[in-house]
Amino acid sequence: MSIPEAALRFAAHLFWPSSCPFCGALGTAACVKCLLPLLSPPLAGETGGLRHEAGGVHEGVLRELALELKYGRNRPLGIAMGRALGRIFPRPDCDVLTPVPLHRESERGYNQSMALARGISMEWGVPALEGLRWKEPRAVQTSLGRKERRDMPADALIPLGNLLEGKRVTLVDDVSTTGTTLLRAAGAVERAKGKAVMALTWTIVPGP
Ligand SMILES: [Zn+2]
Repeated sequence: MSIPEAALRFAAHLFWPSSCPFCGALGTAACVKCLLPLLSPPLAGETGGLRHEAGGVHEGVLRELALELKYGRNRPLGIAMGRALGRIFPRPDCDVLTPVPLHRESERGYNQSMALARGISMEWGVPALEGLRWKEPRAVQTSLGRKERRDMPADALIPLGNLLEGKRVTLVDDVSTTGTTLLRAAGAVERAKGKAVMALTWTIVPGP
């Protein structure tokens, strides 16, 4: 690399500190077009009777992206990931996108699932809405084993006011392990007199 070229790249980096990790495009956390091939073929199935679609299995680069989204607090990346999901999966008959809420005691103060929901919202033209909350503070999910997750109380998640009343809801989460959280979220939507039509997650952790 010549000195002028290096100087140019350095200046570009200062102006656009983020760049696509796949093609190097400046000024973007990741291009949607670079993410799309990673999601092929996406997974579609069901979790406890709830239709559940996901960008892929929680491994390799999809897992790396999920970790960066969550622990890197990379909201622009989450929006790009959400847009990729929104392009791969056709919009269902739904009124709102509702992310699994952030745990109350979480210090992250940033909901990675809401970032995904906002990206999906841009593609589907359906609003993203925080409509649920945890009833009690819970141990951070990553510290829970599979059994503890399955044992989650039926009302672990509860509606936030009546925001979801009469709404057809697509639930959004970053990673699904046992699917219990999504089922509890779907239960809370029903109690809010709404209907959970499907769940969409970035990845699914394969069973043991
Ligand atoms: Zn790119």
